[in-house]
Amino acid sequence: MSKIRFSALEEQRKRTPIINAHGAELTDVFGENVFTPDKMREYLSTDAFKKLENVMGGLEDLDKNLAEWVATAMKEWASKRGATHYTHWFHPLNGATAEKHETFLSLSKTGKVLKSLDGRLLLQQEPDASSFPSGGIRNTFEARGYSAWDPASPAFVNNGTLCIPTVFVAYTGEALDYKTPMLKALAMIDKAAVDICQYFDRDVKKVVATLGWEQEYFLIDDALFSARPDLKLCGRTLMGHSSAKDQQLDDHYFGAIPRRVQAFMNDLEYECYSLGIPVKTRHNEVAPNQFELAPIFEEANLAVDHNQLLMSTMKRVARNHKFNILLHEKPFKGINGSGKHNNWSLLTDTGVNLLSPGKNPKSNMQFLIFLVATVKAVLEHEALLKACIVSLGNESRLGGDEAPPVVMSVFLGEHLSAIFDEIEEKVSSKKMTPDEKTELKLNVGRIPEIILDNTDRNRTSPFAFTGNRFEFRAVGSSANCGEPMTVLNAAVAEQLLAFKKETDALLEKDVKKDEAIFQVLRKYIIESKKIRFEGNGYGEEWKKEAKKRGLSTESDCLPALHAYLTPKAHRLFVDNAIFTDRELEARYEIKNEIYLKKLQIESRVLGDLAQNHIIPTAINYQNTLIQNVRGLKEILPDVYEEVAAPQIETIKEISEHIKTIRTLVTQMTEARKEANNKYPSVVERAEAYVKTVRPYLEKIRYPIDKLELMVDDEIWPLPKYRELLFSR
Ligand code: ADP
Ligand code: MG
Repeated sequence: MSKIRFSALEEQRKRTPIINAHGAELTDVFGENVFTPDKMREYLSTDAFKKLENVMGGLEDLDKNLAEWVATAMKEWASKRGATHYTHWFHPLNGATAEKHETFLSLSKTGKVLKSLDGRLLLQQEPDASSFPSGGIRNTFEARGYSAWDPASPAFVNNGTLCIPTVFVAYTGEALDYKTPMLKALAMIDKAAVDICQYFDRDVKKVVATLGWEQEYFLIDDALFSARPDLKLCGRTLMGHSSAKDQQLDDHYFGAIPRRVQAFMNDLEYECYSLGIPVKTRHNEVAPNQFELAPIFEEANLAVDHNQLLMSTMKRVARNHKFNILLHEKPFKGINGSGKHNNWSLLTDTGVNLLSPGKNPKSNMQFLIFLVATVKAVLEHEALLKACIVSLGNESRLGGDEAPPVVMSVFLGEHLSAIFDEIEEKVSSKKMTPDEKTELKLNVGRIPEIILDNTDRNRTSPFAFTGNRFEFRAVGSSANCGEPMTVLNAAVAEQLLAFKKETDALLEKDVKKDEAIFQVLRKYIIESKKIRFEGNGYGEEWKKEAKKRGLSTESDCLPALHAYLTPKAHRLFVDNAIFTDRELEARYEIKNEIYLKKLQIESRVLGDLAQNHIIPTAINYQNTLIQNVRGLKEILPDVYEEVAAPQIETIKEISEHIKTIRTLVTQMTEARKEANNKYPSVVERAEAYVKTVRPYLEKIRYPIDKLELMVDDEIWPLPKYRELLFSR
């Protein structure tokens, strides 16, 4: 938590709902397992706490003495909360969170048993973490990974372990996690945004990005889950005929929450509160057994940590209720996938939301700058914004069943679009007349009333303005939000810097401030126009229109990832010291590798299931039919041909399907082998898998799903969609 208290955040916090789920007052429970500044103050001397506040606010570095004091304070507090172990807690590039627990136990020189936490632990620790993806950064023998405390995110006790949030970097200093570059991007936007705010309010000294994620997920009964190897190993179903009824009636969305689910949610919320995660809303989502949970927004770095913590906590709590959580973006074919909308805005230390229209023309001009800078950032870096959210899972979600399309666009709403149009029309490089200026300012001043009365919503846009924030909807449900937060904040910061530069150039030519700002606003509005789209993002026409506008319509993951290697990415990231070229290359490679491995696993699981579950089951059923036909022949020798005709037909059909499945599985295995042997490079192999292996997944699924409809329900080995989706 930063030294500066953000009043808006505090205000929101106070509104945290009080639900007496566990017989406890939830305001008491909130944050009880977090080493908050209040607790730090209790456990540290006044001087030490002051120094620590500076460290947390980024004003000072952590020194050895302070680290010693803080570590001791942490250990004492954590021990009282029942912790026996500690760990560095970080987000490696495999998308999970990593922990390696050690006890507080140590031995003195005389062999006495002590409980201690070494201060060096906060400064740097070398975990035995050689197996995390590094994209070639750690190939040499001395290339170890180091983790060091991120003082902006408080330590917490989880399940008897003191968790210390850390960054994770190579010995060379190169980032091996999501947090390190994000912190740099957040620092970049802080500075760039403060500089703009200075035009309007000299008191603004710090700006933070705020993030409120909405986590969608499926809950699946544990027993059914365990009977589906594909769900267990891939997180999604690789086969399964659609249920006769799924989401057609829209009767799940916002419906009454089933009892067992509600019990799970109560427990989860309780755990979240104790960990300081301010969860706020819960509801049924569109697909059966799909739900959503959203917190009150927080400073982005903390919000990302909280989302990572939430994802692991929800898996653990679900098990207590005999549920399993699916965080995959598309666990079931043909129905809603799961996303993680990233609601994003900027907040000043004076409590102003920079994407919320203010009370007067002046503050609304400031609002318009941040608005147009964001729009332009999306246009400038549409490819990177896509690259940071694509994955094997999200690839099958985007563009279908009510998920946002893969084409990036920004929705502003009718009224803001009209204001943009007005500025475009009325402002010109020549001096405006006083009347023109007054009228324009008057209209700009009216923005808040207009938007408040008419917050139009467009659910089909991947990047929509929703009244006081932007909502980046293309992010996948299993993603670490750190990645989109890095790209988005850096991209917007870049535009803010450019805006300032252009405005300052006009000011130097003695153009009045208002006038200068209006002129640059107009320029940015015109330049960013083609990314704005108010229509139906799901429609086919939009794809055509987007192509015409020259926007990227790439829908495959791997080509989209190339954006990380372009000169544009270099300019944004390397020039602003967020990534080095090597880090970018490493990330590109890691993403290819993860994609490849996941696809490989899917292909193997499908092959195994087809051979070991589906074909034997089909043969069993076929044998039953054969026996039946034989029996009929025996007792009805004269008419058996007619009576047994449907069975005989089915026997033949089953044979056809078995043959198809066998042939395709063999071909798929061959395709894997060939790609593995032919392409030692991960990137090339991944590309080969997409071309030669991926198509088999759907091809093999088809006859399997047909068999599911034919074979006796009694012997079908896998729980069906209707069971997975409607048992709760
Ligand atoms: P909806 O379904 O209408 O999008 P939700 O309540 O599900 O709304 O989620 C909205 C999310 O947006 C919440 O996490 C909320 O805290 C967050 N949010 C609201 N204001 C801001 C803001 N200024 N900055 C970031 N996130 C915000
Ligand atoms: Mg939303």
